[in-house]
Amino acid sequence: MLFEAINDEELAPNSDIAVLREVLQSVQGRRNFDTRTMKRFGELTGKAHQHRRLKPSTVEIEFELVGLSGSARRISEFALQVEEILVTVDLARVKKCEGEDCEALFIDESKNKSRRWCDMAHCGMLRKSKVYYDKHRRVNPVADSKSKLGARI
Ligand SMILES: [Zn+2]
Repeated sequence: MLFEAINDEELAPNSDIAVLREVLQSVQGRRNFDTRTMKRFGELTGKAHQHRRLKPSTVEIEFELVGLSGSARRISEFALQVEEILVTVDLARVKKCEGEDCEALFIDESKNKSRRWCDMAHCGMLRKSKVYYDKHRRVNPVADSKSKLGARI
């Protein structure tokens, strides 16, 4: 859900979700957060924490957001999730898809941190077919000239 939201191609540039994306993107690119992003992220998580309560009468420790609804609740949940990623996840696992024209961010949960694409079935396969295509494109001109010049090359 979080990544679906921040990877949305129609993400409004100045929206709260865009701030969350910028935070993860900075982590992924090993960049410092800019001051404005830091400030807005602080506001988002701060607000979320104000509404976070320990759930009563549960055996396990669980939190819930109270007094928030709709999009305010959604953004607070996302802000807490991003915060949790920063605190608990090995930041080398925050990655950007290597697919061409794909800007998707994701968490690489593979054992050896080898995941490269947001979606193997989409970007992974496109990449593979492109490598295949490039190989053949390099081979073809030779094959063409061969047929024109006879079998000399
Ligand atoms: Zn991708």
